[in-house]
Amino acid sequence: MSSPVSYERKGNVGVITVNNPPVNALGHAVRQGFANGLKTGLADDGAKALVVIGGGRTFPAGADITEFGKPLQEPGLTEVIDGFENSTKPVIAAVHGTALGGGMEIVLGCHFRVAATTAMCGLPEVKLGIIPGAGGTQRLPRIVGAQTALEMITSGNFIKAPKALKMGIFDELIEGDLEEGAVAFAEKVIAENRPIRKVSELSVEADSDVFENFRKGIARKSRGYLSPFKCIDSVENATKFPFDEGMAKEREIFIECLSSPQSAGQRFMFFAERTASKVNDVPKDTPLRDLKTAGVLGAGTMGGGIAMNFLNAGIPVTIVEMAQEALDKGIGIIRTNYENTAKKGRLTQEQVEERMALLTGTTDMNDLASVDIVIEAVFENMEVKKDVFAKLNGICKEGAILASNTSTLDVNEIASVTDRPQDVIGLHFFSPANVMPLLEIVRGAGTAKDVLATCMKMAKKISKVGVVVGVCEGFVGNRMLHGYLTQSQRMIEEGATPAQVDKVIFDYGLAMGPFTMADLAGNDVGWRIRLGKLSDEERAERSYTGTIADRICDIGRFGQKTSKGWYDYKTGDRTPYPSDEVLSIIEDVRRDKDINARSIEDDEILKRCIYALVNEGAKILEEGIAQRSSDIDVIYIYGYGFPPYRGGPMFYADQVGLKNVYADICKFQETHGDVWEPAPLLKKLAEEGKSFSDL
Ligand code: NAD
Repeated sequence: MSSPVSYERKGNVGVITVNNPPVNALGHAVRQGFANGLKTGLADDGAKALVVIGGGRTFPAGADITEFGKPLQEPGLTEVIDGFENSTKPVIAAVHGTALGGGMEIVLGCHFRVAATTAMCGLPEVKLGIIPGAGGTQRLPRIVGAQTALEMITSGNFIKAPKALKMGIFDELIEGDLEEGAVAFAEKVIAENRPIRKVSELSVEADSDVFENFRKGIARKSRGYLSPFKCIDSVENATKFPFDEGMAKEREIFIECLSSPQSAGQRFMFFAERTASKVNDVPKDTPLRDLKTAGVLGAGTMGGGIAMNFLNAGIPVTIVEMAQEALDKGIGIIRTNYENTAKKGRLTQEQVEERMALLTGTTDMNDLASVDIVIEAVFENMEVKKDVFAKLNGICKEGAILASNTSTLDVNEIASVTDRPQDVIGLHFFSPANVMPLLEIVRGAGTAKDVLATCMKMAKKISKVGVVVGVCEGFVGNRMLHGYLTQSQRMIEEGATPAQVDKVIFDYGLAMGPFTMADLAGNDVGWRIRLGKLSDEERAERSYTGTIADRICDIGRFGQKTSKGWYDYKTGDRTPYPSDEVLSIIEDVRRDKDINARSIEDDEILKRCIYALVNEGAKILEEGIAQRSSDIDVIYIYGYGFPPYRGGPMFYADQVGLKNVYADICKFQETHGDVWEPAPLLKKLAEEGKSFSDL
């Protein structure tokens, strides 16, 4: 097999080029190729200096992460980089595209560093739950100082070439052809007889305060994560130990992180997110429909946020409301949102105006006649939705995509009032729609493949993570949430408190527990739905037999919006304080239901909440509502604040072992009844000793 790395001499300069598309990942063949390229260059008497450069679109953009967890095939990256740094001939890195991770570490090991003006560099290892493991934490601080290195390494952010030049990462930026420029730079190094500079020989100093303060500074943002703190430890080592010792310690920390369950979860998510964009029976080359203009129906909570997504992507939006007043209000909120972003410095006033100029408000649905896609976000009521879709069917041009943002209703029933079910799809945005990254793309029975493919592409364009789901009540995310919420309610009846349940879930790593979440979303929404579903007789009886959730709403405890819900709130403060009133309602309900309160262990709380998600997830998989278990994980991480370092509920269950999860669920069924009936798929996998990831 020919090597992905080639060697060629240009004048006095040996050029080592890697060609391993698409991103020149640093797999074994590339590492070996670099080592050989260097050897050839050193043996080539005509070469007085060497240039290392990427072919195709980029300098190496990182390790080959499919090799993670497998035994290392020599040479390792550190060895390759040591080879470059210890070269007796000057080595010049020439960067274009993105020099990331191991690619960036090669750059740092070279004696001189030049880049195309459009290049970027960074050490994003932290995002995979690891630290840079080939000298990144030891060399970068020696160039840019400890503070800047900490910022770069713990965030994993990319730095653009002009900034990297100022930081001292690059010596020169090259306009025009990079290879020619790099060779010319190398000729200069030769002509001027510039001495070889080894980054490892530079020194870096910083007070221990710098590191302590940095730890404190990221404590909130990085709560629960291991790797950002390990990155800080390793950079601190660069200031405390000689280079070789720092490198040895970096290696130890790298291996510790790599073998942690957290990194396994984060690496799993990296692939899960990419896999989610594939729809099994929709080929990659499916022709797409044009999507140049959008219409949004309803300028309420969701409609406004949905419109903003399109405006942000430069797509003109026509937004329709029933009355002028509601329209003005909806558009006013969009403007205020943008103005607030501008006040925070994240948009210029000019950008605010550009986005608003793309928005047209109207009260006439006929104005949707020429748009390429309409997203309906009117009241959650089947009759209203049907009425609207029948009208859209008459108004919209042929081939327009007709989407509903319904969160609970049957997309097939909505499609049935049109004579073009192939064009109808569900696009389930999450609130706030302009912020939340998840988009459940609901495939109806008749949805055409090109409509699905177009919506997947659209999701990317409007910066959402799109996941295809099938039609069922609540789709994937909310359907699973139902069991999780039911368990949290039951546990407070049985003896836990809202604060105890919330703390367990928060400590597990979710952004907030179920009761804090309910207070944020508003307890009255579910209460009104439950009231609507009860018969008159049941309604009359309800105040005596009702659940705790109903009773707290009966007395107006709707959540943060009324300053009291499951918790008490002080005006202008979102901190939840336990409420005596709620605790006494809980006791009343226990008395009415003859429940003897018992103390519930945190471990039981965690299992009942998370395994409720897992069991329902298994049913969803079996029914084909989700294409793959990793899609469910993506939904939970991007839509429900599940911690990425757990890899999602299904991946977590795999890590615990499905046999163990199944055994616990069987015990719960014995004690708590058939809500805990194990999903047949879970039973089967557990008995076969398999995982969801084996499917
Ligand atoms: P909302 O009450 O805030 O907004 C609905 C808007 O639609 C109102 O302004 C109303 O005047 C307008 N409207 C009603 N009928 C109309 C018609 N025929 N033509 C034009 N405008 C019309 O409701 P919302 O929270 O934005 O929810 C809208 C949809 O989004 C619902 O289907 C809901 O289930 C779904 N959804 C809501 C959330 C959420 O958290 N709020 C999340 C996901 C999905």
